[in-house]
Order: sequence, then C-alpha cells, then structure tokens
Amino acid sequence: MEKKVTKQDIAELTSKYIEVVERYYGESNHQETTPYVCIADCDFDDIKGEYCHLFNEIIVYWENICSLEELIRVIVHEYQHYLQSPSWMTRYYKMGHSYNSHPYEVAAYAEEENWKKIWEIAA
Ligand SMILES: [Zn+2]
Repeated sequence: MEKKVTKQDIAELTSKYIEVVERYYGESNHQETTPYVCIADCDFDDIKGEYCHLFNEIIVYWENICSLEELIRVIVHEYQHYLQSPSWMTRYYKMGHSYNSHPYEVAAYAEEENWKKIWEIAA
C-alpha cells in the first residue's frame, strides 16, 4: 500500500529543514525575527511556496509538494526572499521587471540549486 504524505509530514520536514536553512544563511537585515512558517492548503496547483514580508511568513502549499527535493527547494527559495530587501522587491517591478526577469527571483531560483547541500547538512 502506498503511503500518502500528510500535512503533518510536510510540517515536520519543513521545521527540520528551515532550521538548517536559518543556520546556513543567517538572519535577514530587513526583519526582526526569523520567518514564521505556515503550512497551508490551496486551490491552485502551480504555486508551491510564498514569502510575505508584511507578516514575515513563509507559506508552504503542502499539497503541491511532490518530493523532498521540491520541499527543500521551496524553503531555500522563499528564505532568499526573507533575506532580500522588500523595498527593492517592489522597485524592481516598478522598473519593468516581470516575475521571470526580476533579479530577486533569478537569485532565488539560482540558490535553489544549493538544495542538495542543505539536504546533506540535515542528514
Ligand atoms: Zn520567488
């Protein structure tokens, strides 16, 4: 019988890997604390994670996570947004950048390639 990954599983894995990511990248200069983490349900299937700088919260859409690699990538990616400047996030968009060309998105996607290192540290 195939065992389905539950919301609880994702919550436990997320807290395990966010700890490693926090130690690895350190704290943001733009927030008072390390980010809150929320494991959320969602109706869409194309978004795996989000970072909200107003609430300093990383949201993981657990139902859209299909593997451990994906989960670690989401955590690494959203953590980059936590580290980045919220005002520049907005400014770059005003300068005409789209989601795909936004320097902060490009940087966050590039950093995802580090997922294996995080996985190894946690192992
Ligand atoms: Zn992003």
